[in-house]
Amino acid sequence: MADVLIIGGGIVGLLSALSHTDRGRRVTLVDAPASHPPASWAGGGILAPLFAWRYPDAMNRLTADGPARYRELVSRLAGYAGLRHDDLCDSGLWVEATGAERESALDWARDWRQRCEPRALADAWPAAEDRDGVWFPEVGNIRNPRLLKALRARLADQGVRRVEDRAVAVEPEGRGATVVLAGGERLAAPSVLISAGAWSPSLLAPLGVSVPLFPAKGEMLLYRLAPGQVPSIVLTENGYLIPRADGAVLAGSTLKEGDASTEPTEEGRRRLEAMAASILPALADLPPEHHWAGVRPGCGRDWPYLGEVPGTHGVFAAVGHHRNGLVSAPASAEFLVQLMNGETPFLDPADYSLGPSSS
Ligand SMILES: Cc1cc2nc3c(=O)[nH]c(=O)nc-3n(C[C@H](O)[C@H](O)[C@H](O)COP(=O)(O)OP(=O)(O)OC[C@H]3O[C@@H](n4cnc5c(N)ncnc54)[C@H](O)[C@@H]3O)c2cc1C
Repeated sequence: MADVLIIGGGIVGLLSALSHTDRGRRVTLVDAPASHPPASWAGGGILAPLFAWRYPDAMNRLTADGPARYRELVSRLAGYAGLRHDDLCDSGLWVEATGAERESALDWARDWRQRCEPRALADAWPAAEDRDGVWFPEVGNIRNPRLLKALRARLADQGVRRVEDRAVAVEPEGRGATVVLAGGERLAAPSVLISAGAWSPSLLAPLGVSVPLFPAKGEMLLYRLAPGQVPSIVLTENGYLIPRADGAVLAGSTLKEGDASTEPTEEGRRRLEAMAASILPALADLPPEHHWAGVRPGCGRDWPYLGEVPGTHGVFAAVGHHRNGLVSAPASAEFLVQLMNGETPFLDPADYSLGPSSS
């Protein structure tokens, strides 16, 4: 029997599995990627929330050191499934902001010890239209599909058992739970984590958990340019461009709350093409190479729920990472694994609790 059973092999489940195995725990990971493609694959990989200063402290505590945590993680995993050091693209992040918005960004950066300075877009990128904004030189982006493959390879090496099936029920017991799979198998463990992204509510509702979670579809485009043509991540109110080291440029993203479908749409493509061309006019003449959609684990508040499911002993959930699950996952996983192992957590559990007193 495994010590820990994790439901969901997105970034949150995979990083939690890694932390558990680092502590010598035997982990089984149940994942249903074919029926529910992970948001962690579809996402853009920006290692900061969009307009980070608009978020509460509970989110900032999970995200402020995201870039540093990813540097460590990529150093550790480099070479697994072809993961390269430059898959963590050290691009910097430029954000459009003027007036009071720009002051808020600078104040926030000072409070959270982030390097940030006022900078016009054209100063860094003469090809671009001139706009005012702020520049975060230490925020980059991660090539997330490759990172997921590297994590899976590393976990296999560390002895994690992977079961490709869909969990249909979690039946709590005195300690832990039995997890029932669509194929009929029943797996029991004294410690269970529900980290099934946007699909977690169907497992949590029968356990009496009623936190505001919803699917939130997002579409993205990928353009192929020569490396370096987009020198940094560029974020505006209408969307963003993300340069990868190999010249790929991602344009994102749409947001449709309540939509759990993964088919890209014509409307999404048109909106993203117009947004991309508004930042880099040359993109108006270049057809995108790929267009895809993913389903974010949407949440009615601006930070996730992380903790034990009330009324159970040993059933935990990590849900509602919404638009910031990649940047926050290393901290979320560390916090959760501390809770699950009875260690002193580095954050206050009350802030993330699934209990009735949380809001
Ligand atoms: C278009 C888009 C752009 C984004 N951009 C960014 C960004 O730039 N930066 C950032 O930080 N975040 C970004 N995000 C958000 C981020 O991708 C998510 O918050 C994060 O990936 C959520 O991770 P997760 O592990 O909770 O869920 P997921 O990645 O969705 O993983 C859930 C896993 O659970 C599995 N599963 C589901 N149900 C079951 C079941 N019943 N049994 C077994 N397995 C199950 C699924 O197959 C999947 O593998 C973006 C998301 C989208 C869609």
